[in-house]
Amino acid sequence: MARSSILGYPRIGEKREWKQALEAYWSGKLDEEAFRGRMKEIRLDRLRKLQASGIDLIPVGDFSEYDHVLDTAAMFGIVPKRFAYHGGEVHPSIYFGIARGTKEAAASEMTKWFNTNYHYIVPELDGTAPTLTENRPLRAYLEAKETLGIEGKPVLLGPLTFLRMSKGYDQADTDAWLDRLLPLYEQVLRELEQAGAQWVQIDEPALVQASDIGSSERLSRIYGRFAEAAPRLNIMLQTYFESVDDYEAIIELPVQGIGLDFAHGRDANLSALRKHGFPSDKVLGAGIVDGRGIWKASLANGCKLLEDIARFVPSDRLIVQSSCSLLHVPVTVQGEDQLPQTLRHALSFADEKLEEIALLARAAELGAGAIAAETQASEAALQALNAHETRNRKDVQAAVSEIAVHEGRRDKPFAERQPLQQAKWQLPLLPTTTIGSFPQTADVRKARQQWRKGEWSKERYDGFIREQIDKWVGLQEEIGLDVLVHGEFERTDMVEFFGEKLAGFAFTRGGWVQSYGSRCVKPPIIYGDVAFEGAMTVEETAYAQSKTSRPVKGMLTGPVTIMNWSFVREDIAREQIAYQLAFALRQEVEALETAGIGLIQVDEPAVREGLPLKREAQAEYLAWAVKAFRLTTCTVCDTTQIHTHMCYCEFHDMLGSIEAMDADVISIETSRSHGELIHHFETQSYPLGIGLGVYDIHSPRVPRTGEMTAMIGRALQALDPALFWINPDCGLKTRGEEETVAALRNMVEAARAARRSV
Ligand code: GLN
Ligand code: ZN
Repeated sequence: MARSSILGYPRIGEKREWKQALEAYWSGKLDEEAFRGRMKEIRLDRLRKLQASGIDLIPVGDFSEYDHVLDTAAMFGIVPKRFAYHGGEVHPSIYFGIARGTKEAAASEMTKWFNTNYHYIVPELDGTAPTLTENRPLRAYLEAKETLGIEGKPVLLGPLTFLRMSKGYDQADTDAWLDRLLPLYEQVLRELEQAGAQWVQIDEPALVQASDIGSSERLSRIYGRFAEAAPRLNIMLQTYFESVDDYEAIIELPVQGIGLDFAHGRDANLSALRKHGFPSDKVLGAGIVDGRGIWKASLANGCKLLEDIARFVPSDRLIVQSSCSLLHVPVTVQGEDQLPQTLRHALSFADEKLEEIALLARAAELGAGAIAAETQASEAALQALNAHETRNRKDVQAAVSEIAVHEGRRDKPFAERQPLQQAKWQLPLLPTTTIGSFPQTADVRKARQQWRKGEWSKERYDGFIREQIDKWVGLQEEIGLDVLVHGEFERTDMVEFFGEKLAGFAFTRGGWVQSYGSRCVKPPIIYGDVAFEGAMTVEETAYAQSKTSRPVKGMLTGPVTIMNWSFVREDIAREQIAYQLAFALRQEVEALETAGIGLIQVDEPAVREGLPLKREAQAEYLAWAVKAFRLTTCTVCDTTQIHTHMCYCEFHDMLGSIEAMDADVISIETSRSHGELIHHFETQSYPLGIGLGVYDIHSPRVPRTGEMTAMIGRALQALDPALFWINPDCGLKTRGEEETVAALRNMVEAARAARRSV
C-alpha cells in the first residue's frame, strides 16, 4: 500500500491563535501554566485536524513554541553563556530570552532558513558540553499516542544540518562536535524505539547544498551509529528544497527511508533515480506536492511523476508526501471568498495540500484512473487561471519582451553622468540623506486604519498625510539634511503598497505565514501579468517637493524585492515576472521624473533572498536580477540620480553584482558589521556613489556624533570622499520621533565634522 505523509504543518493556527497566545504570555496577560495549557490545546487541535485528513504518517514534534532549531539547541542544553542557565530543562524564560533577548543578555542571531522567508535562531556552540535535557520528540510522540491514539512520526533536526546552522565553532571541529552530539541523538532514538515508535523523520536539508560538512564518510558514520542504537526504528532520512548532491552515497546509508524533493529538485532527483535506481530494502519518501508553493497541484503531472517513480519503487515502498514542511504556506484557502473565483479555485494552502497528497497516494496504489474526476477538476482550475485575461495581457507581454532584449544601460556611463549630476544638484561633499521612512507613530497607523475602514474620508486621510509630510519636511530642513524624503507615511508595507496599485496582484484575508517567532507575514500573490495602472507615489513626493527648495528623493520598492516577498505564479519564469515588474516600475520612475523629481531611490533589500541554493545556478539569477533593476531605472536623463538601498544581508560576495546595478548611489546597512564590509573595499574598489549606514536603526539609542565621525573616517580610508554619502542604516519607521530627530542631528553634525577634515 502506498502511504501518505507530510513533513510538518503550520504552527500558527487558522486565526493565528498561536501568535496571540505567545504575545499574551510575553506581555504577562497569560501566566506560565495558562500559556502551557493554551499551547497544548493548539497542538492537539492541529493533530486532530491531521488525523481527520486521512494522512497516514502524521508528523509530531514539528510543532514549536518559537522555532524548531532553537528547540533542538534547547533539547541539547546548548544555551549561550550569557544566559543564567544551570542545566536541566530549559525554562521558557531562558528559551524566549535566547530568541528575543532579555534586559541582561542580547538575543541570539536570527537568520534565514535556507532560501525560505522563515528565520531561525542561530545556535551558539560556545563550548558548553551538550547534554540531553529532555527528549522532546518522545514527549510529542507520547502525547499524540496517549491523547489521540495517533501513531505519529517524530521529527528531528539532523546533526549535520544542526551543525551547519550553528555558529561559534570551527568547521575543522565538526567531528569533535559530532562526537558530543551523536550519543544524545542515539539516546533520543533509543527511547523512541522503546516507546514503540515505528518511524522517525530526520531532517537533513543540508544535504542539498554541496559542502564538506556532509561528506559520505561522515554520513555513514552518523547513520551507522543511529542504526546500531535503535535497530528496530525506521529512519526516514529527509532532504528538501533541492535535489541531493550525493545520491549514490545517500542510498547506501543504513536507513529505512530516503526522502527526496520532487517539486524543487525534480529533474536532478529523477535522473539520479533513473541512473542509479533505488535500493530494494528502502522506502522512498516522494515529495510530490510542493510544500512551499500556494498553487493547486496538477494531479495529472503528479500521476505522471508517480508512474516514472513506479518503475523504480513499488507502491508498498512508497510514501507520497509534501516536498517540505507545510510551515511555509498559509493554513487554509477557506474564508478567502473575496478573491477572484478563478484565482481562488487554483489555490492550495496547507489543508488543501493534505487532500492532494491523499489523492496522489491513492493514485500510486490504484493508478491514475482512481482519481480521474479530481484530476480533471484540478486541471480545469489551473487551465481556467491560465486562460484568465490577467495572464494574457498581450499589451504587457509585447512591451516587456521588447524592453527585455536590452541590457538596461543608461545613456552615459557613471563617470560621465556624475559630473553632470553634481553640476545640477550642487550637493556638498559627503551629502546627508535618509533611507525613506520616518516614524510610523500610533496616530499614523490609526489614521490609515480609519481610512481603510471607511471611518475617514479620502480627503481627510490625504490631509492628514500632508500634515505629516509638512511636519517632516520642516524637521529635515531644520536638522540640515541635504537630500530630503517625504517619509512614506501612506505605506504600511513596502511591497503591499505597490502591489495594491499594480495590476496582477491579489491579497488574501488570512494567508499568514510564520516569518520568525510570533511574527507572521501575509505575502501578496502575483497571479497575473503585472502592469502599471497609474502613478503610485507622485502625489506625495511632488507635494513634499513643493514645500522645500532642497531636493526630495522619490522612493520606490524594486522589482526583485517585490517578487521575492510575494507568492508568485508558476506558469512563467521568475525572470519574466521580474521584467514585468521592472517595466511597470519604470513607468513610475518616469512619472516621478516628469513631475520634477530628480533623485529616485529604488529599494532592493531582498535581492539576496532569491539566490538559488545550488551554487551553479547563482550567477544566472544575479544576472537577471541586476538586469531587472537596470531596466527599471535606465530611461531617466543623465542628471537624474538613481539611488538604491540594501539591507539584511551579507554583501561582500556580491559587490560585483551591486556595482553592475549601476545605481548612481547605493546606501547599505553596515553599522553592525562596519569593519567587515569596509575591509572588502580596501581590496576591491567601488567606483559609484555609496553610503555605508553610520548608525544602527534597530536600537532606540541615540548615537553620539563621535561614534559616527569615527565610522566615516574609517570608511574614507577605503572609499573616495567625492562619492561618499552619509545616512543611517535603514528606514526609520519603527523608531520614535524624538530619538530620530536627535540621531539625525548628530549625524548631520558628524558629516560637518568629517567635511572639515577631508
Ligand atoms: N525605503 C524603505 C524605508 O525606509 C526601505 C526599507 C527597507 O530597506 N527594508 O522604510
Ligand atoms: Zn533597509
